[in-house]
Amino acid sequence: MWINALIWFIIGSVVGSFLNVVIYRLPRNLKLHDPPRSFCPHCGSTIAWYDNIPLLSYLILKGRCRVCGASISIRYPLVELLTALGFMIGAISFDTIGTLFNALVVASLIVLTFIDLETLIIPDTTVILILLSGIFWSMIKGEAWYLNIIVGAVTFGLGYILAVVSKGLGMGDVKLLGAMGTLLGVYGTIFAILIASVVGSILGIFLLAKKRVTMKTKIPFGPFLALGTFVSMYLSDRFFLLLMGG
Ligand SMILES: [Zn+2]
Repeated sequence: MWINALIWFIIGSVVGSFLNVVIYRLPRNLKLHDPPRSFCPHCGSTIAWYDNIPLLSYLILKGRCRVCGASISIRYPLVELLTALGFMIGAISFDTIGTLFNALVVASLIVLTFIDLETLIIPDTTVILILLSGIFWSMIKGEAWYLNIIVGAVTFGLGYILAVVSKGLGMGDVKLLGAMGTLLGVYGTIFAILIASVVGSILGIFLLAKKRVTMKTKIPFGPFLALGTFVSMYLSDRFFLLLMGG
């Protein structure tokens, strides 16, 4: 089993390297395939393949561009590591089909997290991928997939009302809530929202206390929903079994 986990860790780090390209180019309206090779955002020089090895190149180059010496954002190795870990945990937790769907969902969650952090926008593409994964994955598992669609519609509706009333939620968050419903079902969605709210509140209070934000600062909620979704995919069943004393 560990060899399977290791293979998925390596696949994840390579996919994470591509996700970095998506995270950089998507909000800037740059084409994903043109230019085909990665470039240094500082000096524009093309990055050689041997300097573009996931995780390792960042360590070898000590986080600097080989040509101009500008420091490379920690986001690059972080995205590669998170994708690698997410794919690996999926491979340990699910069968082959589940591992593939998990990879699709994890990649979407990571892209929307880092784009939301930078631009306060959650790209529709990532939400649609999670929504479709939720429907098809539950179909393949032989679950009542139509129930998941109903849960998604309900969470979307509740989120929409909350967004109109409180203005704390953006429309991107509302759409993501809908997609989470189809992926996680009733209990999984409740569990995910619980985690997102608790972690979001704790971090919010911490940042307020440190005067890093004010009450007026717009804090993206997408990354917290993404974290909640990620944890819920693996743990919600166990959590509710525990809750019901099973
Ligand atoms: Zn450079």
